[in-house]
Amino acid sequence: MNIILLGAPGSGKGYISNLLIDEYGFQHISTGNLLRENIKNNTELGRKAQEYMAKGDLVPDSLVLEVLKNAISNNLGKGIIFDGYPRTIEQAKELDKLISIDLVVSINVPESVILERISTRRVCLNCSAVYSANDYNKLVCEKCGGQVIQREDDKEEVVINRLKKYEIQTKPLIDFYKEQNKLINFDNNGESKDSFEKLKNVINSMK
Ligand code: AMP
Repeated sequence: MNIILLGAPGSGKGYISNLLIDEYGFQHISTGNLLRENIKNNTELGRKAQEYMAKGDLVPDSLVLEVLKNAISNNLGKGIIFDGYPRTIEQAKELDKLISIDLVVSINVPESVILERISTRRVCLNCSAVYSANDYNKLVCEKCGGQVIQREDDKEEVVINRLKKYEIQTKPLIDFYKEQNKLINFDNNGESKDSFEKLKNVINSMK
């Protein structure tokens, strides 16, 4: 079964991905992580993508599709969580051509919580582990020993643009998937245990 996690930057897509991976062993495709990997490896694609990511704009579809297609072909036949893709209706239509989607989880978090979360979010440059709130002063990743940094695009002025882009370009996907009866809501404001139990019930009933 294949699941899309749909939510604003900082809504907890990575966190919910990890809960689902621990519970069910899904494969995880995060287009943001894949693009950052290309930037780290200084590939041509990474250099092109960086221009857009640094400003908080969406990377052009042709570049995102290239990393997406590779990732899907490496994970065919396994259950996949899509984290950060699709971000536009056009991307959703492209995804439909590649794979069938069973469930879309729409993550709801108030914007004030998002801004607070992102300002304290730190990530490992090496393995992409995320640190927040209590341990955002960490300098070394406890999983792999890599350097822990604040993402350039988590800085306030860029985040504001990313949230704007989400409202305009990505939010219409909620109705797109609602019309297909694939959408469920996930409230991720602090205590997310009940939301996760509800999500597990839905997934278990579909298996
Ligand atoms: P994320 O890690 O998902 O927050 O993504 C970080 C940045 O990567 C975004 O702000 C975009 O610039 C770019 N990006 C990630 N996924 C996509 C996508 N599906 N379409 C366009 N740009 C993307």
